[in-house]
Amino acid sequence: MKINFNVPPFTGKEFEYMRQAVDNEKICGDGPFTTQCSEWIEEQTGTSKCLLTTSCTHATELAALLADIKPGDEVIMPSYTFVSTANAFVLRGATAVFVDIRPDTMNMDEKKIEDAITARTKVIAPVHYAGVGCEMDTIMDIAGRHQLMVIEDAAQGIMASYKGKPLGTFGEYGCFSFHETKNFSMGEGGALLIRDEKDILRAEIFREKGTDRSQFFRGQVDKYRWQDFGSSYLPSDMNAAYLYAQLELAEEITKARIDRWEQYWELLTPLAQQGRIELPYIPKECVHNAHMFYIKTKDMEERSRLIAYLKEKEILSVFHYVPLHSAPAGKKYGRFHGEDVYTTKESERILRLPMFYRLTADETEYIADQVKAFYAAN
Ligand SMILES: *Cc1c(COP(=O)(O)O)cnc(C)c1O
Repeated sequence: MKINFNVPPFTGKEFEYMRQAVDNEKICGDGPFTTQCSEWIEEQTGTSKCLLTTSCTHATELAALLADIKPGDEVIMPSYTFVSTANAFVLRGATAVFVDIRPDTMNMDEKKIEDAITARTKVIAPVHYAGVGCEMDTIMDIAGRHQLMVIEDAAQGIMASYKGKPLGTFGEYGCFSFHETKNFSMGEGGALLIRDEKDILRAEIFREKGTDRSQFFRGQVDKYRWQDFGSSYLPSDMNAAYLYAQLELAEEITKARIDRWEQYWELLTPLAQQGRIELPYIPKECVHNAHMFYIKTKDMEERSRLIAYLKEKEILSVFHYVPLHSAPAGKKYGRFHGEDVYTTKESERILRLPMFYRLTADETEYIADQVKAFYAAN
């Protein structure tokens, strides 16, 4: 039994919808499927506006443009995240200020944020790791008291919520990813969620090469012109067609993932009870989306041996982020505020097991058995 770490989601309807996009003779951006995807996301999340983008990276760049990030500004974020969380702001000349994570959720430690705020701080950028929400009440309270914006990297967070409110809808802007490794995919793609209606027009202009073409297509202006700076952040309608097939089955896809997640949890609980591994923690405020199932080993050395052991059994498991503050660009464009108690240590212990829509119960059982066999022999 050979098991990949990830298999991109596919429901069966994708080709039909992509054919329809071609038949529509509308394969550029903002065609019918893009509209359907955006409306679906608006309805699911209750956000004012969703703009489909070419990636979550680009959605975050759009958010940085909308937040008017200028050289010298500071953005508070975890170091344990993907490079795009930092790049979007660094591209505008800002400094990434990293704070430590909580070891239980691997999310930015909300208690470390306030101390990192300076006169230059403009944005707090929480990352909802593994689709498990950050402590948003605390983060929104800090942002409110210090008049900071919140831009959520909710790349992994679609269909997940904190106290019943969808991730990506707390801050001024929220960013989803539809990369092939995410729960729903269009190959490469993403979405920007805009909380306040006043920001919609500017966002549309930045996304459409600095023009008011979106208004033109709605018949609101009689010609479109260059209005501001901007770039091209529109995905093709063919990609949106691929995505729409999955959004239609969002509940089913999420349920299948949750089933596998809970199966892993149950099968590996004995190892956790023996103190051999640690399992993920879901705060009671959070509903997650089974984006990821990870375990934590004793240390990096044990993790390397487990990865090799599983590979021998043809199971691909992977570790995750190398903390940004330890990377060359992180040293150049960022600084770590406070002490790195958990970021490095926990990132060296985390191991992600295969998790994807079409992972079967048998495969999950086989993987858990192999993890147990490794610990029985070690
Ligand atoms: C996947 C991911 C991104 C980047 O998403 P793209 O759509 O590939 O640009 C950013 N942040 C986090 C936390 C991610 O998991």
